[in-house]
Amino acid sequence: MQADILAWAVPAIFLAFGIGFAALGRVGPGLYAWSLCFTLASLAYGSTVIPVSEGAVFKPLFEDFLFLLSLSGANLALAARMGRRPRFEILAALIVASMGSAGLALVLTGNAKLEIFAIQTGCALIMVTAASHMGPRSARGIDQALFWLCLLVAASLALQNLVFLSSPLDPPMSVANWRESPWAFVFQLSGAATGVAMAFAVLVAIGMDLIDHHRRSSDLDALTLVLNRRGFERRVAELRRPAGQVPAALILADLDFFKQINDRHGHEAGDAVICGFAALLGEMAGPNGCVCRFGGEEFALFERGLSLSEARDLASRMQRALSQVRWPFELSEVQVTASFGVVALAPGEHLWDAAGRADKLLYVAKSHGRNRVVADSIAPARMPMEPALYPSP
Ligand code: GH3
Ligand code: MG
Ligand code: MG
Repeated sequence: MQADILAWAVPAIFLAFGIGFAALGRVGPGLYAWSLCFTLASLAYGSTVIPVSEGAVFKPLFEDFLFLLSLSGANLALAARMGRRPRFEILAALIVASMGSAGLALVLTGNAKLEIFAIQTGCALIMVTAASHMGPRSARGIDQALFWLCLLVAASLALQNLVFLSSPLDPPMSVANWRESPWAFVFQLSGAATGVAMAFAVLVAIGMDLIDHHRRSSDLDALTLVLNRRGFERRVAELRRPAGQVPAALILADLDFFKQINDRHGHEAGDAVICGFAALLGEMAGPNGCVCRFGGEEFALFERGLSLSEARDLASRMQRALSQVRWPFELSEVQVTASFGVVALAPGEHLWDAAGRADKLLYVAKSHGRNRVVADSIAPARMPMEPALYPSP
C-alpha cells in the first residue's frame, strides 16, 4: 500500500507541474509546451503503475509513446524559449525509429529489455536535440544550465542503458518481470529526479526572465520605448568602458516650436511626432550609440568612438532626415524641425556635466533661430570657450 502511494507520487507531482505551467502559460514562451511535457510524463508514469499482463504489447508501447512525446514537448518548449525553429523532422524520425524498434522487440522476441533499450536510446537522443537549442556559451547563465541539464538527462539515460545492457540478457525479460525488477525502480527514480530538476530549472528561468523583463522596462521611456535617464546612464556606463577613457560624443536634440504642434493638432499628434523623432534617432544611433528621452520632446544621443566633427555630421544628418519625414494624416503639411547641441566627452568627464555643456549649445541653436546644429568649438580635454555655429544646410 505504501509502495503504491509512493508510485503514484511521481505522476501526481508531474501533473502538478503540468497544471502549474499551463496556468503560467502566457508569462513566457514555451510554457504551454512545458505543460504538455509534464502532463504527458504524468500520464506515462501513472500508466506504468497500473499492472500489466504477461505478454502485453499495446500498453507498454503506449507508455513508450507518451514518454517520447513528453520529451518532444520539452524540445518544443526550449526551442520556443530560445526563439528557434523546433526540429520537427528530427523528433518525428526519432519517435518513429524508437517506436519501430521497441515494437519489433516486443512482438518478435517478447523481450522487454530490448524494448526499454530502444526507447531509452530514443529519449536520450531527443534530449540531445533539446540541448542543441542552447549551448555552453548561451548568452544567459540559466540557458547554459538548461543546456547542461538536457545533456545530463541524456547521459543518465545512456548510462542506464549501458549498465542495463551489460547485465545478462538470458533469460529474456518479459514485460511483467521488468515491472517487478529493481531496474524499473531505478529507471523510474532517476526519471523522476531529473524531471523534477528540469521543472525547477524552468521555474528559475521564468523567474529570471521576469526580473530581466522588469529591469529592461524600468529602463525604458513608456511612450517612445527609447531609454529613460536611468537606462541611459546604465547603457552609457557600459559603452564607456574601460573607465570612461574611450572617445565619445553627446548630442542633445529638442523639437522646435513643439507647443504649436500640440496646440494646433492635439496632444495625440504631438505624441506621434515625439515617437517618430525617437524612432529616427534610434535608427541613426547604431550599435555603439544609445538614445534617451530627456523629457518632453528633448532627447540625448550618446555615441561611442565618434570625434566631435563626426558627431556634428551625424547631428546634421539627423536634422536632414527629420526634414524628410512624411508625417501621417493632418501632420502631413507640418514641417517638423529640431535643434541640436553637440559635445565630445572629455576623458573621465561625467555624463551629466557633458549634458550640461550640450544643453548650453542647444540653447545657442534655439536663440539663433532653431533648426540648426551647434557643436562645441574645441576638442575635449579642454573646456569649451566659444561654440561654433553650423546653420542648417
Ligand atoms: P522650442 O523651440 O523653444 O523648444 O519651443 P517648444 O514649443 O518646443 O518649447 P518646449 O521645448 O519648452 O516645449 C515642450 C512642450 O512639450 C511642452 C509640453 O506641453 C510638451 N510635451 C511634453 N511632454 C509631452 C508629451 O509626452 N506629449 C506631448 N504631446 N507633448 C508633450
Ligand atoms: Mg522644443
Ligand atoms: Mg523641450
